[in-house]
Amino acid sequence: MDCLFCKIIKKEIPSKTVLENESVIVFEDINPKMPVHLLVVPKKHIASVNEIKEEDKELIGELFLTAKQAAEKVGVKDKGYKLSVHVGEGGGQEIFHLHIHLLGG
Ligand code: AMP
Repeated sequence: MDCLFCKIIKKEIPSKTVLENESVIVFEDINPKMPVHLLVVPKKHIASVNEIKEEDKELIGELFLTAKQAAEKVGVKDKGYKLSVHVGEGGGQEIFHLHIHLLGG
């Protein structure tokens, strides 16, 4: 599948990885909009929120728990940060592999 984030997950394209577990990877956005700008990405290819299935419920929970861990690791957890998700072209989504933007600092 010709998906940029799948290639990052498979280490075919380099990324500045902040943390990684069995089901989720967190790496720095290549074009940061704030001092801290991370992308929290499930390893399973799900194109967008619109393609999330019942069977993905646990994974979506993992996604948020991993976002919280990443926020702690980069030092914005207590101060606060923003999580945002673009859905579809009209929602500003450019990469069609589900991801949460983590912005702070
Ligand atoms: P979205 O508009 O939600 O689809 O956001 C996609 C994000 O991916 C943008 O903020 C881009 O800067 C970011 N991005 C694109 N290519 C890369 C890359 N190779 N490594 C890290 N982030 C990337």
